[in-house]
Amino acid sequence: MSLFTTTSSWKEDEHEIFAESIRRFFDKEMTPNIEKWADQGVCDRKFWDKAGQVGILGGSIPQEYGGSDGGYAYDSLVIYEQGRAADSAWGFGIHSIVMHYLLTYGSEDQKSRWLPRMVNGELIGALAMSEPNAGSDLQAIRTSATKDGNLYRINGSKIYITNGMTANLILTAVKTDKSTGSKGISLIAIEVDETEGFSRGKQLEKLGMHGNDTAELFFDDAKVPMTNLLGPEEGQGFYQMMKQLPWERLIIAVGALGAMDYAINSTVEFVKDRKAFGKRIMDFQNTRFKLAECKTRCEVLRAFISDCIGRLEKGELDAATASMAKYWGSQTQNEVIDECLQLHGGYGYMRECPISRLYADARVQKIYGGTNEIMKELIARSMDS
Ligand SMILES: Cc1cc2nc3c(=O)[nH]c(=O)nc-3n(C[C@H](O)[C@H](O)[C@H](O)COP(=O)(O)OP(=O)(O)OC[C@H]3O[C@@H](n4cnc5c(N)ncnc54)[C@H](O)[C@@H]3O)c2cc1C
Repeated sequence: MSLFTTTSSWKEDEHEIFAESIRRFFDKEMTPNIEKWADQGVCDRKFWDKAGQVGILGGSIPQEYGGSDGGYAYDSLVIYEQGRAADSAWGFGIHSIVMHYLLTYGSEDQKSRWLPRMVNGELIGALAMSEPNAGSDLQAIRTSATKDGNLYRINGSKIYITNGMTANLILTAVKTDKSTGSKGISLIAIEVDETEGFSRGKQLEKLGMHGNDTAELFFDDAKVPMTNLLGPEEGQGFYQMMKQLPWERLIIAVGALGAMDYAINSTVEFVKDRKAFGKRIMDFQNTRFKLAECKTRCEVLRAFISDCIGRLEKGELDAATASMAKYWGSQTQNEVIDECLQLHGGYGYMRECPISRLYADARVQKIYGGTNEIMKELIARSMDS
């Protein structure tokens, strides 16, 4: 199983070689640690360093910043393989999103200062948009940045931030002009180790994704150099976020596909082995039909995602199509994994059975990155213009 199909327009031999190297790395460094990361609530810091050393973090980043210049397809392969390894602890998806914000909107100084250190794992990225009173409705954020000499003073808080406990470069959405809505929003990079007035709350307890650190962040007159503003002027944040959404949304669908491939493969193995009424579970017509349905849905999603990656590489993935991938991918993931769990019987509900972890992990895919209701709204809007 792989991310690409035989007709993927974007696929080259290098993609297969890269996918193979990721798989080997994950087999050795990720798979044996998944349970441990879930128990400790966070992926090991040294895993980031190792991933940096083997060139996995910078697959899509230009060589001048230490990457391999492989385009979005390279990061998609990493995210797919992580899903296929059944891991949800490592926060690479957000790290990749932050790198692409910097690459697209960062000044030359910001890019050369931060990107090489994100590619080698020294810096871990987070994207802090959501607040206790503003999730879907991002225009309502209240965290503010006020100019003071050549500094911004940032006040407010963020919630549900992935990589929140470990990130040391946090791209934060703030209001630089409280008198307007979306036009008053800017993105400012917080260099955690150098920012007085920044603090992290406690690790948030979640239904699933236990190995992935999610936190609340606080800004109490946090002082940040004005040179950390992303883009040439204030008020660009909302536009920047909207422009980057196709990648953020596609990532969720790619991860969904990886998790579904894992779920189906492990379920097939289970039902071939387990017996009831003197037969293999696999021999019941219900099992065969359910698995056939799951597999078909997976292959339809694979073809759609592959097409979306091709469009993204050409700069042609529009917001509505990316929203379809996010909505459909996450919805299908939840339904397929539910069927797979059912075929495991009681064992599927036990924590020791990986499918139970996949089931809990899948639920949030319909919520973060923009809820599926918001995705449907965006799709409908594209039909009503
Ligand atoms: C595990 C996890 C990790 C996360 N990681 C991050 C992160 O790294 N960075 C970050 O910034 N945020 C992150 N989030 C936050 C996430 O993006 C938000 O939770 C999400 O956007 C929804 O916002 P909300 O929770 O405020 O829900 P609300 O916006 O309050 O929505 C509540 C319900 O109302 C529905 N709704 C809202 N508006 C509409 C509408 N116009 N039409 C129809 N229905 C509507 C929603 O679909 C939802 O069902 C994370 C969340 C979780 C759970």
